[in-house]
Amino acid sequence: MEKKKLVIIGSGPAGYTAAIYAARANLEPLLYEGFMSGVAGGQLMTTTDVENYPGFPEGIMGPKLMENFRQQAIRFGTKVLTEDVISVDFSRKPFVVSGSKNVVEAESVIIATGATAKRFDIPGANDGELWQKGVSACAVCDGAMPIFRDKELYVIGGGDTAVEEAMFLTKYGKKVYIVHRRDELRASKIMADHAKNHPKIEILWNTEIVKIEGERVVERVILQNTQTKGQETKEAAGVFFAIGHTPNTGFLNGQVETHPSGYIKVLPNTTYTNVEGVFAAGDVQDHVYRQAVTAAGSGCMAALDAERWLAGQGKS
Ligand SMILES: Cc1cc2nc3c(=O)[nH]c(=O)nc-3n(C[C@H](O)[C@H](O)[C@H](O)COP(=O)(O)OP(=O)(O)OC[C@H]3O[C@@H](n4cnc5c(N)ncnc54)[C@H](O)[C@@H]3O)c2cc1C
Repeated sequence: MEKKKLVIIGSGPAGYTAAIYAARANLEPLLYEGFMSGVAGGQLMTTTDVENYPGFPEGIMGPKLMENFRQQAIRFGTKVLTEDVISVDFSRKPFVVSGSKNVVEAESVIIATGATAKRFDIPGANDGELWQKGVSACAVCDGAMPIFRDKELYVIGGGDTAVEEAMFLTKYGKKVYIVHRRDELRASKIMADHAKNHPKIEILWNTEIVKIEGERVVERVILQNTQTKGQETKEAAGVFFAIGHTPNTGFLNGQVETHPSGYIKVLPNTTYTNVEGVFAAGDVQDHVYRQAVTAAGSGCMAALDAERWLAGQGKS
């Protein structure tokens, strides 16, 4: 079985940044970019313009940005495998990383498998419909787009994230509606009060969006009262899911400690997990920021942590 100093799992900004740093440090990293687990290249492959990644004053298309990351990682000697990691064995040293085709031994591992935004299956909201044409799962990423300016925007959810997203969108929208299935927010009291008292926010209690309509972009939503089942059609330019994310950790089979929410636990201000020699970077360990630049930053941290850890073990 081939033995590697470092295996990186995941090909978003975190994984590729880790690869660039590790390759430049002569760790000859092997990176599993995924296949069926999600889009190789990560979440930015599913978006159009990225306007907030530093260094691109005119913005850059998400897939182009990720192709640049990939080429930069390969240029310094990263070996990329287009396959999923199915399982890992962290109980033995070196670790064993099993891909769908290739199984390797690894002295150290960086987990950078990201997180997937949860969405409800609402007609009109899916890929190939109005997803990314007014339907989004990230206000910070997409809120400033011109299509949302001075328009009616809808946020689906009832927790702190929904309130945060709604507050952020008030900078751009004319009115922001929080659509919540129940008659009480799950958000903390202070956040809920912010939402209730904000002049641009209205909470639609006991309500769900049952359909999103529009020719090329979102134009209308159909709302349904969860109790009376009464429906009404409202003008809308944007619908934002804020119902949480699922960190992609299933293949770990519980071998790395996670928070109750499923995000990998790391030692504060590091990328160290509870398993010595295993590091985590990007959205898979970050429930707070979840941005490309923060993912890339923590990918850099993971490579430096891994390099120093390997050196301490006499294995770099
Ligand atoms: C539609 C959309 C638009 C966005 N727009 C912006 C924006 O404008 N600006 C911004 O800063 N952020 C934006 N974000 C957020 C940003 O994309 C994420 O914060 C960032 O991509 C996280 O990077 P990551 O490397 O942690 O993980 P990801 O990008 O999620 O990449 C994880 C990778 O791991 C792979 N993977 C998962 N499981 C396995 C496995 N078992 N084996 C092998 N590979 C695996 C996946 O295929 C994927 O390639 C957007 C997100 C979305 C969904």
